[in-house]
Amino acid sequence: MALHSRKLSFTRPIMVSFAGILFSFTLIAVIITLSQRRDFLEDYHNINGNFTHNLAVNYTESILRENDYILGRSATYFARNDRLNQTVNVNPAEGLQVLMHLQNLMPTVSSISLADALGHHLRAPEVLPTENSKTFDPRVRPWFVGQAEASTFSHYTHLYKDYFTGKPMVTLYKPVISPEGRLKGTLAFHLDLASMGYTLRQMVAPVQGEFYVVERDGEVVLHPDVGAISKQYVSEALMDKMTSGEGHLYDKKTKSWYYYYSFTNPDWFVIYRVSGQTLSDITRHETTIVGWGFTLASIIIILFGLYLRHASRTVLMNIINAIKTGDVSQTPRLEATLSHTIQSNKAREMAYARQATHDALTGCKNRRAFDEDIAVLLDSHQPFALALVDIDNFKSINDTWGHLSGDIVLRNVAREGLQVMQPHHVSVYRYGGEEFAVIFTAELFDSSFSLLETWRLAVENRVWREENLNVTFSAGLGEWRYEPLEQFVGSVDNALYTAKQQGKNRILRTSEV
Ligand code: GH3
Ligand code: MG
Ligand code: MG
Repeated sequence: MALHSRKLSFTRPIMVSFAGILFSFTLIAVIITLSQRRDFLEDYHNINGNFTHNLAVNYTESILRENDYILGRSATYFARNDRLNQTVNVNPAEGLQVLMHLQNLMPTVSSISLADALGHHLRAPEVLPTENSKTFDPRVRPWFVGQAEASTFSHYTHLYKDYFTGKPMVTLYKPVISPEGRLKGTLAFHLDLASMGYTLRQMVAPVQGEFYVVERDGEVVLHPDVGAISKQYVSEALMDKMTSGEGHLYDKKTKSWYYYYSFTNPDWFVIYRVSGQTLSDITRHETTIVGWGFTLASIIIILFGLYLRHASRTVLMNIINAIKTGDVSQTPRLEATLSHTIQSNKAREMAYARQATHDALTGCKNRRAFDEDIAVLLDSHQPFALALVDIDNFKSINDTWGHLSGDIVLRNVAREGLQVMQPHHVSVYRYGGEEFAVIFTAELFDSSFSLLETWRLAVENRVWREENLNVTFSAGLGEWRYEPLEQFVGSVDNALYTAKQQGKNRILRTSEV
């Protein structure tokens, strides 16, 4: 398995970052979607609640109040003098006309009954006498008021079957009580539930649902579909839960939302039933759009993550190449630091390379470079000349002026040599402690001696900071004649030795020894 440090990998931090971003994003998306869903549901509850409220107050209640108002005024009319008796018993033909006139004022009232306290009664429109009508006794009808103790308010009966038509009926009635407080009879408006229900059909509901009016026990009083009247549409258990004036609740049994508004007189409830499925379909539809938006954004995040991972690998490869080649052209702002690092790294590398071949004190090439260069010349059989240079009496210089001054002398002798040799591309090597070597190629054989002489004179004539300090060197010079290296170097060394013997500060050729 390849050993590599995680610290050098872009992939891990990029993947961790993008996983973090994606996770946070998804979390936010879920929270937003859920809260939005709740908001939508709340909005629809408000809309449906308002619809139910309007249906109750602006439609149902206004019809009921109108009939109630006319009933009150009419009852007062019949309560005065002997009018009720006149209408029902004395002149029923004229009485019928009065009642018909009254009935025409109210489109939602199908018929009117007026009865005296004894049970004589008049119905408009008139019911033709049949076998049944002969036995008809108003005193057993639910709307008949037999006792004066009955409240003077108008009342609504529960649903009951009309004696003559057999149809479900609700009657609005009121006792007729004279100003003296005597119960004279009952005035009853029989409501036309079918026509009242028809008008419900014209209502446009905000969402698909069913709306109707029920009594407290859950039986339908008004419904756009006449056939539904008197049927049990809401269970009594559910009706018991409708305790406020208006509100909404969810019924698990029918899986529906019920929006309701309750009246007190009559004890009716306007109900708007919307199935839970309908509402969740609507809210799901609304949140689906948002959900898709979030999904798309997630995909984009993932794509960017993958792109960044790919791009970072490319950049890493470019950096590796730049380090290898040292080429840092076209690097923009932020990457300047990186370029600088690469450049200084390259410079350091070159410094190391120089250190490997050069002597730190004198700046000359070192012994190692000398050995390598000589080996190349020997291998390629190229003729060359070698000079060995040794500073005279260097030990006593060290002893007299100190080791530090000795170093300075060493450095300056080398500098003089380099100044003479470098223009001719001749290398000067530090061969040993205070010894130098110079290699001349074949084309410089003729000038090798004079170059060394120039160096020697420069050193001899140099004025030193230290008082009474004079520095000279001796040298041996020889041309290689393809003899073994050791033998050749020995001969040059011998020339140097001879120069020392002859009094130093001179250069001797091997041929002169
Ligand atoms: P001669 O004229 O015969 O060459 O005598 P010399 O004193 O120069 O020769 P010797 O070989 O006796 O002494 C060389 C001295 O050079 C010995 C050593 O302490 C000194 N030396 C060698 N390398 C360095 C160096 O790098 N710095 C200093 N200051 N002295 C050095
Ligand atoms: Mg020496
Ligand atoms: Mg010496």
